[in-house]
Amino acid sequence: MPKSNKKLRKIYLDYASSALLESANPGAIHELGRKEKEKLDGARSQVAKILNSSREEIIFTSGATESNNLAILGLVRNFKKPHIVTTNIEHASVMEVYKYLQNSKQAKVTFVEVEPTGVVDPKKIRKALTKDTVLVSVMYANNEIGTIEPITEIAKTLRHHNKSNKQKVFFHTDATQAMNYLPVNVQRLGVDLMSFNAAKIYGPKGVGVLFIKKGTPLQKIMYGGDQERGLRPGTENVGGAMALASALEAVEKIKVKEVKRLTKLRDYFFKELKKINFDFVINGDLKNRLPNNINITIPNIPSDLLVIELSERGIMAAAKSACKAGDGKASYVIEAINPKIKETDGSLRFTLGRDTTKADINFAIKSLTQILLKLKKWYN
Ligand code: PMP
Repeated sequence: MPKSNKKLRKIYLDYASSALLESANPGAIHELGRKEKEKLDGARSQVAKILNSSREEIIFTSGATESNNLAILGLVRNFKKPHIVTTNIEHASVMEVYKYLQNSKQAKVTFVEVEPTGVVDPKKIRKALTKDTVLVSVMYANNEIGTIEPITEIAKTLRHHNKSNKQKVFFHTDATQAMNYLPVNVQRLGVDLMSFNAAKIYGPKGVGVLFIKKGTPLQKIMYGGDQERGLRPGTENVGGAMALASALEAVEKIKVKEVKRLTKLRDYFFKELKKINFDFVINGDLKNRLPNNINITIPNIPSDLLVIELSERGIMAAAKSACKAGDGKASYVIEAINPKIKETDGSLRFTLGRDTTKADINFAIKSLTQILLKLKKWYN
């Protein structure tokens, strides 16, 4: 074998493995491939350090939806008669997996109802456990109402249960909405599986992570190559993984400061809202809540309409309709915390972020006031 020579003219003849030589295939064993592999593993180490896990416990995926699917389906496949415990406010990428498993009779699923605050009671999770329970899955923070779920308490309950039970219960959390603001040390959280994506932490779309604690039996759900320990076949998204890792590092650096700043802004938002002479209900607990989430219901005015009116004034917010009979999909989260909600009552969600200022909030409140005055004539 010739000695490696820096002056050697390099000729790329691996276009079938990756057409762009500046981002060669990390699976290739030639020099450029190995460099890509180093970048990927570098990103993996960065993520592992922040989560306080080992590098081998980190799998890169295409996003939180894939991470959730892999965590749940991959675990459940190990068992004959699996029972799963979850809540009734999980994100669709968790909820729909459970509905599929239930409908196809591959698993029994207990959907524990959250309290009217939107927070689940760990005691109710404990009561739902049976000798066949293999998985408990509770989201870390809710994407609609921003409620923070008691992950460490549930983990404690499960550790206790696992001491006296033959069948170990594994614990999964969808931490997608929590990463910006809450502690993400997987050892302290006590989880076996944790999903999140880059998009919610100011990184690119289409890349995510699944943390898989060593010893957690997970089977592949896609078939192909042996990338990502065989659990996620397909050429790795090296650039995406690197961007995710640096986004996560940036989040950690400013987390404490951002939480303080946004909590103040969020509370100011609620205070100013109360000054508007209109009925509204705050959805979700005020204490166990992400610092950037405002979610309200204004009775009798369709929230889609509010969002369109706000958008026309340059304000981008989100709506989720409660229309049970209409064609729009109902917000099962709002229904879960308020079963008496009427068809016409939707929810209006404002979520704050790095660029949000007090002036932005003042403008949003002013605009909302004008819109409500206008719409009141039509709807009341
Ligand atoms: N879980 C939660 C809580 C989310 O907010 C989202 C994004 N809306 C997802 C999962 C899905 O993430 P992705 O789009 O990366 O699949």
